[in-house]
Amino acid sequence: MKVFKFGGASVSSVERIKGVGEIVRQHQNEQLLIVISAMGKTTNALEKVNEAFFNRDKETALQLFDEIKKHHLDIAKYLLVTNYLSCETQLRDFFTEVEWLLHDEPVREHDYYYDQIVCSGELFSTCIVSAYLNEAGITNKWVDVRDIFRTNDDFRNAAIDYDFTQNKVNEIIKPLFQEYKMIITQGFIGSTDENESTTLGREGSDYTGAVFANMLEAESLTIWKDVTSVMNSDPKQFADTISIPELNYNETIEMAFYGAQVIHPNTIKPLQNKHIPMYVKCFLDATLPGTVIHNNPVHQLPPVIVLKEKQVLVKAGSRDFSFVGEHDVRHLYQLFEDLHIKPTLTQIGAISFTCVLDDWPEKIEKLAFGASAFLDIQITRGLSVLTIRHYTEEAINKLTKGKRILLRQQTPETIQMLLEDIN
Ligand code: ASP
Ligand code: MG
Repeated sequence: MKVFKFGGASVSSVERIKGVGEIVRQHQNEQLLIVISAMGKTTNALEKVNEAFFNRDKETALQLFDEIKKHHLDIAKYLLVTNYLSCETQLRDFFTEVEWLLHDEPVREHDYYYDQIVCSGELFSTCIVSAYLNEAGITNKWVDVRDIFRTNDDFRNAAIDYDFTQNKVNEIIKPLFQEYKMIITQGFIGSTDENESTTLGREGSDYTGAVFANMLEAESLTIWKDVTSVMNSDPKQFADTISIPELNYNETIEMAFYGAQVIHPNTIKPLQNKHIPMYVKCFLDATLPGTVIHNNPVHQLPPVIVLKEKQVLVKAGSRDFSFVGEHDVRHLYQLFEDLHIKPTLTQIGAISFTCVLDDWPEKIEKLAFGASAFLDIQITRGLSVLTIRHYTEEAINKLTKGKRILLRQQTPETIQMLLEDIN
């Protein structure tokens, strides 16, 4: 048994959905569980529906939702003939669920509504892809993952109840495989014990795929992406990006920790625990080798570069030139926790505590306000943090050219530098 995950870009158009069909057709004779994301930018579009609804702008919310409906119906129309009507009926049921909610007034918290609305993107896309594959002779069974993935009610960042979910996998998914070779379901979403929909955090479908792979003891997880493989840096930021054919779990966790947009950080643990290899493959050309991520040591990795832009330096200094003590630091960390801030870098000195954060103005303002009760706060915006794993002097020199290094932290494997443009 294998698990495949197809991201939003792989199902963003009629042509791409047909391409997914070509890929899975090659695996028709194996047991395959396929996790699919919402089509293209649907999740972002649904987020806007929720914002309008929560701001009590019902008209805009309904209008934005209408555009999403039309787009999905159009794609279904192009793809389907015999299965069109049954797919449309299923889609309309999902539409109605959201519209009922949109006609109400918000009385609960923002994130609750977010999940009830945003979860529908995955339901729409899987319903269309499943109908298309069935019509194309690739027999599969559509499953609502909310009947399988039980989570807590931490909306937008729900935690999976592993025991309950494993039982559901045993009770529902495993028997289905005696009847069907292929199961199609949604990534990113789950449900509470009160049948409220939940989401696992943006880009959470990779994580869903990994949890399924773990619980089904799959042979492998394959993540189908629009890139040819995992790269040593983001090709949008650097011209001379190179492909990494082989990685191990620990290296991947480190890369994700420093902000590389390779894979959702939660994805690795469920795979690592059961030694399940993960393949990153390109849905545009399935013959390319991609990247394999496994448990074995990998030697001779190139410098792996992560550049985080829009960073803010917050310097918290003691008022009276006394030392910044444990007490102050504890307070600052309490603020980080309360505001869900994960600093990119921190450093403690005699009379100041320095941290570097993503530029989320609202959070920074709250942090500065909270900390200014006991420390002097200085804020500098417009910086970047460059992390290089397996660094070389050459890589450091090249990547810091034209920049001032404001702060530098280094271990034998990793160097991190806070940079400011010189001009
Ligand atoms: N559709 C969700 C998102 O765009 C989940 C995913 O794609 O993994 O974040
Ligand atoms: Mg996605």
